[in-house]
Amino acid sequence: MSVKKLFFLPTGSCFLDQSAVNRTLPPGKLIEMPVWSFLLETSDGPILIDTGMPDSFVNNPDYYKGTKREGRVVPNMSDGDRIINVLKRVGYRPEDIQALISSHLHLDHAGGNGHFHQAPIFVQKAELDAAIGNHDYAPQECILPDLPYQAIEGDYEVRPGVQILFTPGHSPGHQSVLVKTEKSGYVLLTVDVAYVRSNFDNGVPFLTSDPEMAAKSIQRMQELIQEYRPTTVFFGHDQEQAKSCHTFPDYL
Ligand SMILES: [Zn+2]
Repeated sequence: MSVKKLFFLPTGSCFLDQSAVNRTLPPGKLIEMPVWSFLLETSDGPILIDTGMPDSFVNNPDYYKGTKREGRVVPNMSDGDRIINVLKRVGYRPEDIQALISSHLHLDHAGGNGHFHQAPIFVQKAELDAAIGNHDYAPQECILPDLPYQAIEGDYEVRPGVQILFTPGHSPGHQSVLVKTEKSGYVLLTVDVAYVRSNFDNGVPFLTSDPEMAAKSIQRMQELIQEYRPTTVFFGHDQEQAKSCHTFPDYL
């Protein structure tokens, strides 16, 4: 088993209050954050990492109007950003996917999970415990109780070259993925261990469920980088990094 290609798939964007990206800034200004899904083409079939935002966000920037998140979270999603349509462009249907890795169950990562009923969905038990049944956690589409979840606790090798790393702190059961591809060697998808590079490099505090744990997870990722020397370290929502990112049909 080997990973032949890692595709970066844009799945829309989400405007978030700047104080969520940098806790030292006052609230009141929105920052656009790219939203991602990743597809691995392996010798055992395709593996998907994250499913973007829910279909209910399509052309619906007012989704959070009248809630406590009004003016702080504004989705920017078109029909083409639905995970089904994103996958279609790559040439796959949901039933083709051999495994789905859900980094965590937030609105911009697990929105399309409900389209996947066949493949195991790898998610941390701690994340399921925090999210399922908790309607304050995420929209219903992200926390569906009856999907084929494969609850894991800690690090887990999904396939050779596809290593899940338990990196809690942004959310209780957040996980990152270290991928080894034929073309690029090690690629570290930190996901939301850091929204942007300054969270990671300079310790700028951002939205976390447990700041201490989040700092520990960043520290762990930094040690891992020393050990594995990945050719790319990718952050969850870094606009600057996104500009130079080789998205589908390019691959790593
Ligand atoms: Zn996120």
